[in-house]
Amino acid sequence: MRQISAEEVYAALPIGECIDVVAKAMVAVSRGQAVLPLRSLMPLGSGNAMGIMPGGLSSPAVHGIKLVSLYPRNPERGLSSHQGVILLFDTETGRPIAAVDGASVTAQRTAAASAAATRALARKDARVLAILGAGEQAEHHLPAHLAVRAFEEVRVWTRTFANAQAFAARHAHSVRSIRAVASAQEAVAGADVVVTVTASPTAILRGEWLQPGQHVNLVGASVASAREIDDAGVARGRFFVDTLAGAKAQAGEYIDALNAGVITEGHILGEIGRVYDRSLAGRLRDDDVTIYKSLGVAAQDLAVAYEILSRLP
Ligand code: NDP
Repeated sequence: MRQISAEEVYAALPIGECIDVVAKAMVAVSRGQAVLPLRSLMPLGSGNAMGIMPGGLSSPAVHGIKLVSLYPRNPERGLSSHQGVILLFDTETGRPIAAVDGASVTAQRTAAASAAATRALARKDARVLAILGAGEQAEHHLPAHLAVRAFEEVRVWTRTFANAQAFAARHAHSVRSIRAVASAQEAVAGADVVVTVTASPTAILRGEWLQPGQHVNLVGASVASAREIDDAGVARGRFFVDTLAGAKAQAGEYIDALNAGVITEGHILGEIGRVYDRSLAGRLRDDDVTIYKSLGVAAQDLAVAYEILSRLP
């Protein structure tokens, strides 16, 4: 069985190409060409957990599982909060064929999924990007977004201002203007695209701050008990999800807004894969607010891991 390291993951599949692989996987998901049992989460105490994410794709024909330890305090020791492995199996024989580093694939596929949504839903003339959060996901979301729109200005906000400053300094070479801002509201005002990639359990983004024409990717809250935007924000936009089943069971923002009576079930317009294959309308007007709620899907992990395996000598 082949073992694939993080270095091999990054070298084999540049982010621009990863965006296309993930978009294709999401189309397959929405066409029913993937088997995706709901992800389960095993609590480990001290705020840690293990995620168990099985799945199967028909094209490419591969099945497997991502096993991922979620250790939110890992960044304090210089480690990714997501430690894991993606096991790929040959569909013909059932044989395990590869064990692929899970932290790097998770980082790349999540950023690629958001960037694909931005490519499909944000206005074509988007120039200002706001990133809320400055951890590992933010690191990957910036280059992924620069690959899909000609952003000229980036604002970054996070809980710890010094981290936003360090983020801006690290990425100063990659865009014309990047700066740390002291509040999330300041980051969002006048932005064309807003990306939330925090580990906050409560809303850090308010609907009243959103402006016509903005596109929002909600990425950081991946369990039902967490959320990054308030109810007014959920209600404010044309709302798309990665999978309907996952969102209804695990998307904290949607579930809370539904329970509060602020939205109805019909508020989810559909899966993002249907926007990609144009069977569902995305942005209708320049002044629409569009929202993509990302929970993360095993199909993304499998498609990216398999693509990397097939590219290696
Ligand atoms: P990191 O630990 O590297 O970064 C976390 C970021 O969130 C930091 O900027 C941190 O601020 C901020 N943060 C943490 N707690 C709070 C809080 N209470 N209020 C406001 N900000 C806070 O994590 P990652 O970047 O790896 O992951 C970010 C989130 O994305 C996680 O919740 C993770 O579970 C989720 N995720 C979602 C995926 C998906 O597919 N949708 C896939 C992978 C991850 P600072 O350090 O500056 O204080």
